[in-house]
Amino acid sequence: MSDLNRELDIAIDAVRRAAIGCRDVQASLDPAAIEKKDRSPVTIADFASQALICRAIGNAFADDPIIGEEDSTDLRNPDNAVVLSRVTSHVAALVDETVDEDQVCAWIDRGGAKEFSPRFWTLDPIDGTKGFLRGEHYAISLALIVDGALALGVVGCPKLEHAGEAGVLFTAITGDAAMARPLFGEGDPQPIQVTENPAPTKARFCESVESAHSSHDDAGRLAAFLGITTEPYRIDSQAKYGAIASGLADIYLRLPTRPGYVEKIWDHAGGAAIVAAAGGRVTDVDGKPLEFNHGHELSANRGVIATNGLLHGAVINGLDTLRRAADASERT
Ligand code: AMP
Ligand code: MG
Repeated sequence: MSDLNRELDIAIDAVRRAAIGCRDVQASLDPAAIEKKDRSPVTIADFASQALICRAIGNAFADDPIIGEEDSTDLRNPDNAVVLSRVTSHVAALVDETVDEDQVCAWIDRGGAKEFSPRFWTLDPIDGTKGFLRGEHYAISLALIVDGALALGVVGCPKLEHAGEAGVLFTAITGDAAMARPLFGEGDPQPIQVTENPAPTKARFCESVESAHSSHDDAGRLAAFLGITTEPYRIDSQAKYGAIASGLADIYLRLPTRPGYVEKIWDHAGGAAIVAAAGGRVTDVDGKPLEFNHGHELSANRGVIATNGLLHGAVINGLDTLRRAADASERT
């Protein structure tokens, strides 16, 4: 699908600009604000990132809807005037045109689509906000979906290391190799690949830092069942997909913590495109492919499993066996 090269170039430039804005806000985080559970820094970076990326996609592809995580309703509330003014200055610093607050809100709201369409983008302007606030990992994730299939993914991971420096940008056009390059500095893109490990006992798995987002207990049971002895690699955001795609880990487990939670497409589309192009496999916990044609939610799926492909069957079978055993013990 090399006819998506223009889309890729624009997406890369947009995600890079957004990442610079996010990095600057994260670098200025005040530990006192974090202790007070003040989320305003992440809110500012989140809105600025969405404004920058929707501006770029909207200017280049005016007819493409964008299903983004944020909208400007709260930002337009007069109580949030200070936040809006900060968002506007961050955006203004990263574009070469005059920017006012209405313009920023309008850019953010270009990402307000919710429904499926034959060609659309989906955006998580900061995935892993809890990690961002801890000064740890987060990601900026953008994907293009054409006829329900992942066509392109661009995922910036400002805290993940690449060639000894912080910041890696993962890119993939479906059908071509997945690539990694420096997110902030210069450097050629290099092809990346999942691991070639077929042995569950030698596998390393990654999962959310937050046990509310993925069941650490169930992952522990699966690891014991499969004979995995390596400690889990816990990392926030879609950096987990980057870890699988670049061979840092073999398995990404996102195991539902409660019935009824429905995953959002912006939390997975970009990352899943990268893992697939790197030779891996992504499904839900039942082994079903993720379906990106139900609007903003993965309503046909439960949880997510991404692997190097070779280990996928063992993980899905293991989960199935453990589920049956749990059901049987509940009945007795
Ligand atoms: P992570 O950094 O991988 O833990 O994922 C962060 C994402 O988890 C956020 O963007 C949320 O959309 C999402 N999230 C929030 N609540 C849940 C939940 N109960 N289960 C799974 N994901 C969740
Ligand atoms: Mg997210």
